[in-house]
Amino acid sequence: MLFPAEPFKIKVVEAIQKTSFEERDRLIRQAGYNVFMLPAEKIYIDLLTDSGTSAMSDNQWAGMMIGDESYAGSRNYFRLEETVRDIFGYQYIIPTHQGRMAENLLFNAMLKPGDIVPNNIHFDTTRANIEYNKGIALDLVIDEGFDPDTELPFKGNMDLRKLVRVIDQHGPQKIPLVMITITNNSGGGQPVSMENIRQTRVLLQKYNIPLIFDACRFAENCYFIKEGEHGYHNKSLKEIARELFSHGDGCTMSAKKDGLANIGGFLALNDPQIAEKATNLLIIVEGFPTYGGLAGRDLEAISRGLQEVLNEDYLHYRISQVRYLGQLLLEGQVPILRPIGGHAVYLNAKAFLPHIPKSQFPGQALAAELYRSAGIRSVEIGSLMFGHKDRETGEDVFPELELVRLAIPRRVYTTMHINYVAESLIEIYKKRYQIKGLKLVYEAPFLRHFTARLEEVDS
Ligand SMILES: *Cc1c(COP(=O)(O)O)cnc(C)c1O
Repeated sequence: MLFPAEPFKIKVVEAIQKTSFEERDRLIRQAGYNVFMLPAEKIYIDLLTDSGTSAMSDNQWAGMMIGDESYAGSRNYFRLEETVRDIFGYQYIIPTHQGRMAENLLFNAMLKPGDIVPNNIHFDTTRANIEYNKGIALDLVIDEGFDPDTELPFKGNMDLRKLVRVIDQHGPQKIPLVMITITNNSGGGQPVSMENIRQTRVLLQKYNIPLIFDACRFAENCYFIKEGEHGYHNKSLKEIARELFSHGDGCTMSAKKDGLANIGGFLALNDPQIAEKATNLLIIVEGFPTYGGLAGRDLEAISRGLQEVLNEDYLHYRISQVRYLGQLLLEGQVPILRPIGGHAVYLNAKAFLPHIPKSQFPGQALAAELYRSAGIRSVEIGSLMFGHKDRETGEDVFPELELVRLAIPRRVYTTMHINYVAESLIEIYKKRYQIKGLKLVYEAPFLRHFTARLEEVDS
């Protein structure tokens, strides 16, 4: 397969520092084998997340200089409104400081206690905001979406039979909205097909249930549709996006992903009553409706980013770069989740480190080793993030999948950086049996992975 070269040249550079093995060995011990506790300056390649880490273009930076910081009625808001209406087609645009606030406003406006919100797979902030607003979050992705090895082009699809069953069981009055996350982040960045979205829409119309997209990676999803779904090859990405969003009633958006911005988000809706409720809360928790939680310059960067992200050459390069890393790893026999998703490559740590039991956090051990050996930061999505004690028996419960995510920031790293990541991982794979398991020495009661401290197990 041929991969495209970067469709940009570099005007501004940021130095990154290569440290010695000895320094990294000391730093990772000091950090309690937790990559969240490392100083970012001591990281050579940072693949912790693709959120808020995009490189902005010269066009976006130029937009920052024409930020209108008026308290009310900033011109940058009107430009964002125009851009979102143009691409997404929704009427009411509510700017927020990031995606999770759009979620909170939406659920606050739409949920009653005990209501059910289905999704393909809820992202963790989405689930948390539903539960915070006393609702119940259900994950109804197709069964293959939970299997790390099934190759399927649209593994993020909603399972319509499961959805019908949930509606029949609870009644449509208990389901104020259904969500679809594009691409399905928690399921490995897998896309959802237009056909699946259309069928979901048809089903929901029978019951008068609104469909709201979690649109964080909408452009990447549209690229997968253009590439892999019959009838879309000759459509422009913007046409595909418009068609996709026409099947829904609104969306939540984190501009830190496909907004190509470092901060920001919005809620977009067609229903004036829900928009009014959300706006009333916005004024209490974020700010005036024409800036939300953002500066005028941020609004401008987002509206320019939303236009750039649908550029065909950009998306071809973007998806190809992630795929390129995945293919290098597959060629080097390194076990990864397949197919390769839109924004990240996921290492299968259970297969990578078969000698380390789940109780000794193989994913975290691999993430720590990747930093120690090569200065690369990744993130564990496994026993440390999701493991917990059973409430009744007190026994340890571990998740099915033990993954390490290599999220690729947009427009930040070159092909040579990607080669370096792949080569480092292939080297580590060759000496994998030297890697030791870890044990917890400190854990917080909630979201323990952020602050946990660990030590190597002597075996
Ligand atoms: C990042 C993300 C969010 C939350 O957005 P923030 O800007 O981080 O608050 C919601 N849903 C998905 C799918 C995401 O990836």
